[in-house]
Amino acid sequence: NRQFTLASRPVGAPTAENFNLINTEIPTPSQGEVLLRTVYLSLDPYMRGRMSDAKSYAEPVAIDEVMVGGAVCRVEKSLNDNFQVGDLVVAYTGWQDYALSNGDDLLKLPKALTTPSYALGVLGMPGLTAYMGLLDIGQPKAGETVVVAAASGAVGSLVGQIAKLQGCRVIGIAGSEEKCNYVTNTLGFDACLNHKDENLAKLLAEQCPAGIDVYFENVGGSVFDAVMPLLNSSARVPVCGLISQYNATELPSGPDRMSQLMGLILVKRIKMQGFIVFDDYGHRYNEFSQAMGQWLAEGKIQYREDKVIGLEQAASAFIGLLKGENFGKRVIEVGPI
Ligand code: NDP
Repeated sequence: NRQFTLASRPVGAPTAENFNLINTEIPTPSQGEVLLRTVYLSLDPYMRGRMSDAKSYAEPVAIDEVMVGGAVCRVEKSLNDNFQVGDLVVAYTGWQDYALSNGDDLLKLPKALTTPSYALGVLGMPGLTAYMGLLDIGQPKAGETVVVAAASGAVGSLVGQIAKLQGCRVIGIAGSEEKCNYVTNTLGFDACLNHKDENLAKLLAEQCPAGIDVYFENVGGSVFDAVMPLLNSSARVPVCGLISQYNATELPSGPDRMSQLMGLILVKRIKMQGFIVFDDYGHRYNEFSQAMGQWLAEGKIQYREDKVIGLEQAASAFIGLLKGENFGKRVIEVGPI
């Protein structure tokens, strides 16, 4: 049983030395338990937070503990009447080949789901994040302008497409020309800008002649700096993630602009609201999965996976995810279905 454990806590960007790849015995289920084998492991930016012991909404991974993560697993042995060998489930078993479960925390996947890895992306946690963050907090209306960064990624790609389905003008921001071409040509956004372009603020202003009504915040940093002056009165800002800051070891340099931001929020009556997807919206999963399932079936939503083969690649693939090396939702293919 291969397991990636947390060897040490990163200072700045994580490195290979922060992880250990070890081999342990495959565990044996007791009465009421199932033995799960990982088929797909999801890699997600929140895992950077779990490597740190700074206070957060969830407990950190302990040193020498298996890294956390959602996975699609196959039931290999079952001593639990609710599960049969061969069932596929979503489970938070982490970065390892095998794990035990008493069944309480498992979501059984319907046999009709032809691409089980979608349960980690468009039909799973990132999908729910995009859907609820945009529709419930962002409240987009037809004709409004919506901006989202990390626009080719798991969450951002869906935010923009859902906003298009609501009749909005949608501007994406992504980290390369190739990603921007995909965002406009395949996902159908109205435009996409590269955040590495030093003229981002000017280019964004040109693309948003009527200002910004909804900014779906995925990254923070210089992208937010470009967005801030363009926010309209009564703009909504769902604060989903701040990936540009996850490896930061100190506050950004330069003048403190907190009072400027607070002043803007005040005079423009801007609503900024953070959310933690399962805590705030877990109870609305069925509503989301019905809507998203239908959009997918009708071909109204495009979805791209960035599959990396082999559990042993998990650490380097995760380090790359934080640098924008992924193109689409990053999952590790750990073993056969
Ligand atoms: P992605 O699939 O979008 O991958 C991360 C992407 O972030 C990279 O590909 C890169 O894209 C972009 N990125 C990295 N560094 C920077 C930077 N300095 N400036 C701008 N962009 C950067 O990840 P997800 O869709 O899974 O997650 C997107 C965001 O949503 C994250 O902030 C994550 O933490 C958050 N999230 C929050 C949840 C919640 O409950 N609040 C739940 C799920 C996700 P590029 O090359 O385009 O720059």
